[in-house]
Formats: sequence, C-alpha cells, structure tokens
Amino acid sequence: MIIGKSRKELEKMRAAGQLVGRVLQELRRMAEPGVTTLEVNMAAERMIRDAGALPTFKGYHGFPFSICASVNEQVVHGFPSDYKLKEGDIFSIDVGATLAGYVGDTATTVPVGRVSDELLRLIRVTEECLELAIEQCRAGNHLGDIGWAVQSHAEARGYSVVREYVGHGIGRKMHEDPQIPNYGTPGKGSKIKNGYVFAVEPMVNIGTYETKVLKDGWTVVTLDGKPSAHCEHTIAITENGPEVFTRVTEPAPTTQIEMAGV
Ligand code: MG
Repeated sequence: MIIGKSRKELEKMRAAGQLVGRVLQELRRMAEPGVTTLEVNMAAERMIRDAGALPTFKGYHGFPFSICASVNEQVVHGFPSDYKLKEGDIFSIDVGATLAGYVGDTATTVPVGRVSDELLRLIRVTEECLELAIEQCRAGNHLGDIGWAVQSHAEARGYSVVREYVGHGIGRKMHEDPQIPNYGTPGKGSKIKNGYVFAVEPMVNIGTYETKVLKDGWTVVTLDGKPSAHCEHTIAITENGPEVFTRVTEPAPTTQIEMAGV
C-alpha cells in the first residue's frame, strides 16, 4: 500500500532531503583523479553524522558503507574501495541520510577530470531523463507516465534503461511502496496522489539494459561491460506540483557578484 505523507512528515522529509542534497554537492567536488572512492565514503559519513543524521545505507540489509560508489560499467550498489578515480572515469555517487526518522535519497554521476564526449552525453541524457520524470510526478498521473518519460527519452537517443533496479516510495523507510520502474506505458500503473514521496532514479546504459551482480553480492554491472549512468532525486507530489526535496539551489556564481561591483 502506498502511504501519503502528512504536512508535518513532508517538512521532516524536506529537511532530510536538503541535508543529503548538500552532502552530495560536497561529494561531487571530491571526484578528482587520485581520490579513492573510500575517501568519498568517509567524507559522506562524517558530514551526515556531523549534521545529526544517520547514513541510511550503512547496515541496510548488510550493506557495509554510507554511499554506493559505482564507476564506469558499474550501474548501482558499488562498494567504495581503495580504487583511485582516474581521468576519464564516470563516477556514480548514491547517498542516503535519515534525519529525525525520515529518509532522503539522492544520486548523481560525475565526470572525473576530462571525460569523452560519449560519456558526457550519457550523463547529460540521464539527467534529462530524471528531469522529464520529475515533471510527471503530479497528482492524477500514473506511475507508467514516469517510467515512459525516462524510457522514451533514453531509447530515442540510442540508450537502454535498466529493468532490474527501480525507483521507490520513500519515507520512514528508504524503500517503501510503490516500485517506480524507469520504463512503462503512459496512463498505466497506480495513480499518483498528493502527499506521495518518491525516489526516482534512472539508470541508463550505452549498450544492453541487462545487468549482473558481482561476487561481492552487491555491485551491479552491465552485462556487456559498457558504461552506465545513474541519478536520483527524492520528490514530493504536492498541490503545487513536484517538489524536489534533494535539489539544492546553488548560490549565485561569484563572477556575477564581481560584475555587479564593477
Ligand atoms: Mg534509491
């Protein structure tokens, strides 16, 4: 059963979302050649705990880390390790925080140093898929509208969308009903109502949509070894449309301030 959230719950979820959104922004800045994914994990855990929250992923069904760190052909659920990021990698960072009993969940894929145009395009299209999906997070729409928004955009650009891993409802628990696939048929699936909160997370592949899990029991990779990108936001369905709890608005660029002072 999908459970809609009260106004008070939405306030708490907004706070959790903003916190984890800011953490992800800081982690993005760390993604430079030579940095290990374990260093990024440790920074995430420290920032989350310093803010009085808990790293939701740590211990979740036995997952041992505070972030999922998935590089290149890794789709999701990668283990942070002593692997040093290198120029040309793409690095998916997925992070969750529980604040005052409510969860925020967000992910992004970052280019490390100079990255090929092919990979930059993959990341851009994946981000576009997420934005198009967010637009569909409106009362009266159906879950299939969200999936179709992702699938149609990705496939029209020659990419595939992962089937075996999907977005999800979110609240006190990280994974609540319903499942939110990145594929679907417009007008099909459960009807969306105000008060629902969803974590929508397109996973877009250059080659096949098929995946497999590595021997660690967690890391999901593409079956053909080709690169994959992933991004995610926690989104509330409100009377005023979708509200992206994990989106943090950047302060105005300093160049603008300097120019204003000229
Ligand atoms: Mg998620």
